[in-house]
Amino acid sequence: MSSITVCARFRPLTSKEKLNGDADSVCIRCIDSETFVFKDDKDEELTFSFDRVFYEESKQDDVYQFLALPIVRDSVNAINGTIITYGQTGAGKTYSMEGPGILECDEQKKGLLPRVVKGLFDSLSPSDEELTFSIKLSMVEIYMEKIRDLFDLSKDNIQIKESKSRGIILHGVTEITVLDPAEALQSLSRGIANRAVGETQMNLASSRSHCVYIFTIQQEFSREKRMRSGKLILVDLAGSEKVEKTGAEGRVLEEAKTINKSLSALGNVINSLTCGLQGKTSHIPYRDSKLTRMLQDALGGTARTALLCCCSPSASNVSESLSTLRFGARAKHI
Ligand code: ADP
Ligand code: MG
Repeated sequence: MSSITVCARFRPLTSKEKLNGDADSVCIRCIDSETFVFKDDKDEELTFSFDRVFYEESKQDDVYQFLALPIVRDSVNAINGTIITYGQTGAGKTYSMEGPGILECDEQKKGLLPRVVKGLFDSLSPSDEELTFSIKLSMVEIYMEKIRDLFDLSKDNIQIKESKSRGIILHGVTEITVLDPAEALQSLSRGIANRAVGETQMNLASSRSHCVYIFTIQQEFSREKRMRSGKLILVDLAGSEKVEKTGAEGRVLEEAKTINKSLSALGNVINSLTCGLQGKTSHIPYRDSKLTRMLQDALGGTARTALLCCCSPSASNVSESLSTLRFGARAKHI
C-alpha cells in the first residue's frame, strides 16, 4: 500500500489583498485541524477534510513536523519519499518550501528545505562506528518537458534512465556530496540563484517550471559489507492556475498546456496509486510526463508521499483555490 498524506495550507492575506478589502471576504471557515468550510463563487458552502489543514497562523515548523519529518526519518531507513507543494502562483508554495529565503536566519520562518536538511543530518548521526553515510544533492528544473541541471546550466536536456541497482536516475546530472547542513544550504542557495540566472537569460518566470530537489542518502555498514540508499525528493511545482484561453498565445499558451499536462499526469499517477490500493493489473501512467517519470520510484510502491495544497484565503482567488483543493481531495479519494 502506498501512503500519501494530503494537507491544505492557507497563507495569510498579502498586504495588497488587505488593501483590496479581501479581509471582509475570506473564503474559508475553520472547523478543526482537519476540516473547513469553503465558500465558492456562488456562495455555496463546501466542506473539505484533509489529513491536516494549516490555517494562516500556522507555523513553518508545524508543517515540517506533520508533513515532512516522518518522510525524512523513513528516507534514512532507505524508504524513498516525495514532498510536493501544489497551488496557483502566489499561493505560498515556495514560501512553504524555502521560507522567505533559503539562508533565512529567522528560525521560525525557515521553510521545509532547511528543516529537512537539518532533519536528515540529525537522523543520520551514527551511533555505530561501523556505519558511514553520505548525502548527495541534485537540483533540476523541468520547463517545457526539458530537464535542466541547476548546478550546471549547460546541461539543459538531462535524460531519465532506469538502472537496476539505482532505480530511476538522471543521466549525467551533477550530484554534490554535502558533508554538513551548512554546506547543503550553500549548495541549495547556489542552485536557486542559478535558476534565477537561467530564467533571466531566457526571459522565463520561475512560476512556469517545476523545481526538483533530490537528496540521495547512502549508508554503508562496513561490518556486514552492506549498502543501502534512500531518496528524498522535494518538488516546488509550477503554478496550477488556468491560463485564459482566449488571451494567451505563443509561448504562454504552450507553457500553460505543458504545465497542465504534467500536473494532470501527476494527479493521475497519485490517483491510480491510491485507487483501489493497486490491484496487480492496474497501470500507473508514470510515463505521461517527465515529472512523474522522474518521481517513479519515489512515488508509489513502498515510497511515502506528502502533498501540500497551497491556497490564498482571499475570495478573489476562489476558483483557483477550489481547483487546488479538488486536486488534493482527488489525491486522497475523499
Ligand atoms: P508561490 O511560490 O506559490 O508562487 P510564494 O511562496 O512566493 O507563492 O508566496 C507568495 C507571497 O505570499 C510571498 O510574498 C510570500 O512571502 C507570501 N507568503 C506565502 N505563504 C506565506 C505564509 N505562510 N506566511 C507569510 N507569508 C506567506
Ligand atoms: Mg514559487
